[in-house]
Amino acid sequence: MDFRWDKNFAKELDKSDELSVYRNEFIFPQHDGENCIYLTGNSLGLQPKGAKAALQQELDDWGKYGVEGHFEAKNPWFAYHEMFADPLSEIVGAKPMEVVAMNGLTTNLHLMMVSFYRPTKERFKIICEGKAFPSDQYALETQVKHHGLKPDDVLVELEPREGEHTIRTEDVLKAIEEVGSELALVMIGGVNYYTGQVFDMKTITEAGQRQGAYVGWDLAHGAGNVPLELHDWNVDFACWCSYKYLNSGPGSIAGVFVHERHCNNPELPRFAGWWGHDKETRFLMEKGFNPIRSAESWQLSNAPVLAMAVHKVAIDLHSKIGMKALREKSQKLTRFLEFCIEQVSENHSNAIFEIITPSNPEERGAQLSILVHGKGKQLFDYLTKNGVIADWREPNVIRIAPVPIYNSFEDCYRFSEVLNSAVESE
Ligand SMILES: *Cc1c(COP(=O)(O)O)cnc(C)c1O
Repeated sequence: MDFRWDKNFAKELDKSDELSVYRNEFIFPQHDGENCIYLTGNSLGLQPKGAKAALQQELDDWGKYGVEGHFEAKNPWFAYHEMFADPLSEIVGAKPMEVVAMNGLTTNLHLMMVSFYRPTKERFKIICEGKAFPSDQYALETQVKHHGLKPDDVLVELEPREGEHTIRTEDVLKAIEEVGSELALVMIGGVNYYTGQVFDMKTITEAGQRQGAYVGWDLAHGAGNVPLELHDWNVDFACWCSYKYLNSGPGSIAGVFVHERHCNNPELPRFAGWWGHDKETRFLMEKGFNPIRSAESWQLSNAPVLAMAVHKVAIDLHSKIGMKALREKSQKLTRFLEFCIEQVSENHSNAIFEIITPSNPEERGAQLSILVHGKGKQLFDYLTKNGVIADWREPNVIRIAPVPIYNSFEDCYRFSEVLNSAVESE
């Protein structure tokens, strides 16, 4: 489809967009009496309007029943987390028994590494991204030290080639081959938070496992954003948070995937708590941990229902739409935003920025990272002053995320209008 850089054209695209009705399910921050141009759903998704009532329901049940709410509440708290098995499995391409909503993302990365990073003298190396999200870096570093090893001896960091911004699949495969039988674990962000690059998870998983390693993915920027087939790709484990593309609220409950074959292996070491123990005998309070034969066995504590109430509202919206329709709109929306930004570039002879996110729609999700040459922070501040909520990453990258569940084509157009005037005001 040929795009036009024009507000009415953007409005036409919105009119023919079947998902445009969902925009009204979310609360937008305001600027000068208008919705902000909110392009930060990759950092914190917007609040679903249904969140308040869902939260109120649990508060009311708590008031009404006290402890009996575990069994008497409208959604009994005892089994609250079980409501997420089906919808989350669809979002990440898994069997329901392979997923569970629990804890925070970084906590889950640690729990997964307890099970899947068990270095030996011969096999101890980890392949990861050179510029992984800081929390992932700290988790990796401290897990390695926990085993009495030195990060420099263990971590093999992937970097883009000189003059490039994203990491080539062939370079990942080469690294895997080179580390060979010393490779214990591959753990990478499936969608890079900085560039928006989507890795070829299927191919990399296969290659890592061929060397005898486990392969796990951090899907903080993947879950709810790009199509995933974790079960079929034979991924060992994956972790994600729910407050980015899954719109479940600040610091809300995270999720994990553990492949069926590991769920069915009670001998696999793990850190355990009572909520991971066989449900039939949980309340006998006896010695000896007997893991549930599902991802639930990695749960430690009883579920934080207040956070989950909001998660439920957001996940239900996702389920109603489905990843296929979301992805379809997402690709079109991102292409339109990219097109509008290119028009701004073409309008000015002195190109002051470039998009470092892959231009191939299969290699990206709902994000464009704009590398600004020169006065990046000044440009960013101008955007902020004019109603754009975007994300600034040192030293000079502006990240914007056109989120298909609530962003419109008009949002994309309006962004480029503000960007254009920002460039003109330089
Ligand atoms: C957002 C994000 C995190 C945040 O971790 P929390 O434990 O949820 O605070 C970690 N890793 C990546 C790759 C992220 O994008």
